[in-house]
Amino acid sequence: MIPREFEFHAPKSISDALGLLEQFGDEAKLLAGGHSLLPMMKLRFAQPGHLIDLGGIGELKGIREDGGMLCIGAMTTENEIIWSKLLQDKCPLLVEGARLIADPQVRYRGTIGGDISHGDPGNDHPALMLVLGASFVLEGSAGERVVPADGFFIGSYATLLQPGEIMTEIRIPVPAPNSGYCYAKLKRKIGDFATAAAAVTVRMQGEIVQDVAIALTNAGPCAMRARAAEDSLRGRALNDASVDEAARLAMSICDPSPDQRGDVEYKIAMSGEMTRRALRTAGARAGR
Ligand SMILES: Cc1cc2nc3c(=O)[nH]c(=O)nc-3n(C[C@H](O)[C@H](O)[C@H](O)COP(=O)(O)OP(=O)(O)OC[C@H]3O[C@@H](n4cnc5c(N)ncnc54)[C@H](O)[C@@H]3O)c2cc1C
Repeated sequence: MIPREFEFHAPKSISDALGLLEQFGDEAKLLAGGHSLLPMMKLRFAQPGHLIDLGGIGELKGIREDGGMLCIGAMTTENEIIWSKLLQDKCPLLVEGARLIADPQVRYRGTIGGDISHGDPGNDHPALMLVLGASFVLEGSAGERVVPADGFFIGSYATLLQPGEIMTEIRIPVPAPNSGYCYAKLKRKIGDFATAAAAVTVRMQGEIVQDVAIALTNAGPCAMRARAAEDSLRGRALNDASVDEAARLAMSICDPSPDQRGDVEYKIAMSGEMTRRALRTAGARAGR
C-alpha cells in the first residue's frame, strides 16, 4: 500500500519542531530514520497528515562525555554508535547491541532515539538502556524533563513520552571500567528482530557477584528487568547452578506473543537460554 497524502516539514531547530508539533497536534508525527514509521504508514497503521522530519536539526546529533555521563543525541544513527571510539572504549555493550540491530542499510538511517521512542517490544535498545541505567531527555513546549529508562517502557508501543514531546538526548552513566557486559540475541537470520534476547551488566568482586542488571527483549509487551533473577545472583558466585537459577527466574516473568519466530513455550525457553549466555559472557568479561 502507499501512505495517505501528507505535508512534509523540515525544521532546523528543536524549538521549531516543537512549534510544529503544537500547531498540528494529533495530525503530526515526528520522522527520525523512518525505518519503523514508514512501514507503518505504508500499511496505514499510522496516517499522519503532517510529517516533521528531525533530520535537519543539528542539536539532536552527536556523542560526547560530560561529567561522568555519555550523552547521545536522539538522532544519532546505529552506525554512528558502532563507529564511535568513545563508545567502543567506554560503553562497549551499546556498540555490541547496535551491531546486532537489523542490517547495515537500516543502521545507516535508524536512530537510537527512534528505536527507544517507538516502544516496539522487539527493539533492542530498550533492554540495553535498562541495564545501563540510562535516562532520557524529553523536551516539550512546557520545558524539559529527564526520565529514567526504568519505568519508561509501559507496554506494547507505549512509553512515558507524551504527545508534543521530543526525545532529544539519551544519557548513560559511564560504566565502571571493569564491568562485564553482554547482549545475547537469538535471531532467525541477519537483519531479523530478536526471537529472544538478554542484556546483562555485572560487577564482580573476586568470584562473587557484587551487582548485576538483566533485561529481556521480546519476552513480553515491552522490555523488562528480570529483578528476581538479579536478586538471586547478588553476593553469590557465578557458576552453573546460580546461572541456571537466574535463567529460571528470568523465564518466570516472560509473557511473549507467539508469532512466526516461535510459540510461547519456545520463546520463553530461548529467553532463559539468552540469559544464561549473557551472564556467562558478561562474567568472563568482568574484571575481578
Ligand atoms: C528490516 C528491518 C529490520 C529491523 N530490525 C531491527 C532489529 O533487529 N532491532 C531493532 O531494535 N530494530 C530493528 N528495526 C527497527 C529500526 O531499528 C528502526 O530504525 C527503529 O525502530 C526506529 O528508529 P527510526 O530512527 O527509524 O525512527 P522512525 O521510524 O522515524 O520513528 C519511529 C517512531 O518513533 C517516533 N520518534 C522518532 N524519533 C523520535 C524522537 N527523537 N522523539 C520522539 N519520538 C520520536 C516517531 O514519531 C515514530 O513514531 C528494523 C527495521 C527494519 C526495516
